Amino acid sequence: MKTVIVVGNGMVGYKFCEKFIATPSNNAYKLIVFGDEPRPAYDRVHLSEYFENQDAKALELAPATWYKKNGIELITGQRVTDIKKEKREIHTDAGDSHSYDYLVLATGSVPFVPPISGVEKEGVFVYRTIEDLEEMMAYASQIKAIKPNGRAAILGGGLLGLEAGKAVLDMGLEPHVVEFAPKLMPRQLDSRSSNVLQLKLESMGIQVHLSKAANQILGDKVIEGMEFGEDDRLDVDMLIISAGIRPRDELGRTCGLEMGTRGGIVVNNKMQTSAEDIFAIGEVALYNQMIYGLVAPGYEMADVAVNQILGNREVVMPDDIDMSTKLKLMGVDVASFGTPYMPADRGLSIIFENKTKHLYKRINVSHDRKTLLGGILVGDASDYNMLHQMYLNGMALPENAEELIVGARGEGGSAFGSAMDLPDTAQICSCESITKGNICSSLLDGKSESLKDVIQCTKATTGCGGCKPMVTELVNETLKSMGKEVKDVICEHFEYTRQELYGIVKVKGISTYNEALDKCGKGHGCEVCKPALASIFATIYNDTANKEDVIQDSNDRFLANIQRNGSYSVVPRIPGGEITPDKLIVLGDVAKEYGLYTKITGGQRIDLFGAELNDLPAIWKKLIDAGFESGHAYGKALRTVKSCVGSTWCRYGMDESVSFAIELEDRYKGIRSPHKLKGGVSGCIRECAEARGKDFGVIAVEGGWNLYVCGNGGATPKHAQLLAEQIDNETVIKYLDRFLMYYIRTAAPLMRTAAWLEKLEGGIEQLKKVVVEDSLNIAQELEMDMQSLVDKYECEWKQAVENEEIGKRFKHFVNTDDRDDNLVFVPMREQKMPEPWTN
Ligand SMILES: Cc1cc2nc3c(=O)[nH]c(=O)nc-3n(C[C@H](O)[C@H](O)[C@H](O)COP(=O)(O)OP(=O)(O)OC[C@H]3O[C@@H](n4cnc5c(N)ncnc54)[C@H](O)[C@@H]3O)c2cc1C
Ligand code: SF4
Ligand code: SF4
Repeated sequence: MKTVIVVGNGMVGYKFCEKFIATPSNNAYKLIVFGDEPRPAYDRVHLSEYFENQDAKALELAPATWYKKNGIELITGQRVTDIKKEKREIHTDAGDSHSYDYLVLATGSVPFVPPISGVEKEGVFVYRTIEDLEEMMAYASQIKAIKPNGRAAILGGGLLGLEAGKAVLDMGLEPHVVEFAPKLMPRQLDSRSSNVLQLKLESMGIQVHLSKAANQILGDKVIEGMEFGEDDRLDVDMLIISAGIRPRDELGRTCGLEMGTRGGIVVNNKMQTSAEDIFAIGEVALYNQMIYGLVAPGYEMADVAVNQILGNREVVMPDDIDMSTKLKLMGVDVASFGTPYMPADRGLSIIFENKTKHLYKRINVSHDRKTLLGGILVGDASDYNMLHQMYLNGMALPENAEELIVGARGEGGSAFGSAMDLPDTAQICSCESITKGNICSSLLDGKSESLKDVIQCTKATTGCGGCKPMVTELVNETLKSMGKEVKDVICEHFEYTRQELYGIVKVKGISTYNEALDKCGKGHGCEVCKPALASIFATIYNDTANKEDVIQDSNDRFLANIQRNGSYSVVPRIPGGEITPDKLIVLGDVAKEYGLYTKITGGQRIDLFGAELNDLPAIWKKLIDAGFESGHAYGKALRTVKSCVGSTWCRYGMDESVSFAIELEDRYKGIRSPHKLKGGVSGCIRECAEARGKDFGVIAVEGGWNLYVCGNGGATPKHAQLLAEQIDNETVIKYLDRFLMYYIRTAAPLMRTAAWLEKLEGGIEQLKKVVVEDSLNIAQELEMDMQSLVDKYECEWKQAVENEEIGKRFKHFVNTDDRDDNLVFVPMREQKMPEPWTN
């Protein structure tokens, strides 16, 4: 039996073992693995999660028993100190020696510590292992005990430095990121995206210092600060160095393997070093003159080494290695793929930037506009997976390539099709080299029945995890195509449907996002579950969007809809479309004073467009003083109840539609729901208010009102269906309370009433049973819940103009009163409009 010795039990060393034992011929080999850390390999990519749970087991890639069960001898806490190439022997710091037939060096890297004077002082740390984190946490809590406003600097504004910045924030210290280059994440970002990321980080309380080189660590024995130049210093109580990595290549150096001039063990495309029976993989290997500091290339190297040792000589490393990355830094999406930035002569760039929303999207396309060459996404990387796939698979670009980043116009529009449109060969999980075909056939062949099975079976998502949304979509779509039921869970952080989560929040009395994460979620959350929970809290407690502004989507955060040039709209409520001349004059005055474009909308109110973020509180103050309220045009909430003039003026009118519309709008205003809600009241069956195109519509008939529900205009118009006939005003309100509350409780996020009814088993007949006949015996509870929401209504714009703290949110830049100088308008029909878009 031959012996393979693996030195290093990190992520790549582990992957080598996993791939090795999965081969049929592995029985002919004995595998011995040495690791000098005190525990089996763990997930270093998700190391920061240790701050939350301090559970080393949760990070383990496999328990010690896994190695034993698979015939692998794992020796932890022991360092290999020497290789005797000629004798094919290794020696360890325990004084043992072992012979090998093949040796695999997977010794990884260590953090690079620049030779700055004083770097050895107490309070200076690196960020690589669980032990590093434990030391940091112990030190940080000592500082906090004596200095509640303690500060920590992070040297290095790259990927790992920003991860460390989050760690500092989690430890309750004030973080300062110090970067030598003039931008953050210099490898992945261009200057503009770095600038957008910096603004976002600063808005979260992380100070960023660019173009700074530390020349001294200050303090006696213990760090007290950093000096950058004369009279330029930063007082800090702790320092985390994250200035890059250096390969742990000392074994190769001492035994005479070929080395790179700046370190790293040179390997060919078979992962062989200059000694043909010694392989190097992961961050210690120098391949094509590069050390790849990411886990995906390391896993591919492990696969190549396994195949080469077992005689599959044709499996080699490709020349080009994909260095695309997507990560969440302190809750902010940052992604780059392909060639993220390049000189103009290599291609064309399309850039979308919105500093107010901390958004930056860039794609680089070939001169003939046919091929995607790369790009950068900051603030919203939801399109990363599709863009990455387009890039990897050389897929043809659509005619209007800009739609890939600005989206098709209209709600929920996307320029991409579904992940199901990708070819079977499309690589979905780069870390594990899993294709779309692998994922779908795992279900179609009956090997898997759920997302969990697919993950277990294929290992997709188990590397950096960036492909999880796309794998989930493929699994759900494939299951649906097989006629299987799919549970629409909120996202990976809350594995419940919205209805289940609503119930949990209500029963447990959870009222903040972090409490929800603690009690029934996991991870840090995302842009899907945050607004979903904000909506659930609002519909249980009727908290306004001001309560936890950081979990709202951005329209709710600024209590206004952002328009296409970065300006905002102001939409006061005009219940039933009825407005006094005095109020009309106020609207005119405000529009004139702030130069706003005015338009009467289909919902019978007057929108004022083109407002600057900084002006919103002053504009709203004037409107509120004149008796207006927020119209919630930005929220997933009741918008308007449109009405015709009804019997007040119309000779056909059978009832007072305006009065009733005003009553309904006043009752349901401000109530958040899974999607926007619209209502209508018509005075007779001529239906001038188009009530049957609304989520709820009321039409006056002989003997009362007919009540219709679940109609939609928009992209997929649906007529509302009859719920009850000839009922009086009180009964309309009673049924509407029940219907709306039932929808609010049970619909999925962003599901409008028509789609909800379509999914409801039994359709409108079942809805009638619940709402009219009270078949579930919940009518009283639904009515009480609605009444409690109605009683607690508060205008959130009134709160915002009266509360100085809330008012601070409406600033274009966090630390100055400067305005957005990107807003450009051009004249149009005696008013103004945003400057047209150009490429
Ligand atoms: C905080 C953090 C976040 C990261 N985030 C990402 C990310 O989002 N995406 C991504 O792709 N990558 C990320 N990385 C990088 C990723 O973790 C590495 O690319 C990967 O861990 C490299 O694996 P490796 O096995 O080559 O090295 P390592 O994981 O460093 O493993 C090497 C192991 O060998 C041991 N060893 C060394 N010498 C000896 C010896 N002589 N004898 C015995 N044992 C020895 C070491 O102690 C270590 O346990 C991150 C890294 C960190 C630290
Ligand atoms: S229909 Fe709506 S989404 Fe489409 S352009 Fe008009 S306002 Fe915008
Ligand atoms: S719906 Fe009937 S009552 Fe209302 S305006 Fe039209 S015709 Fe008149």
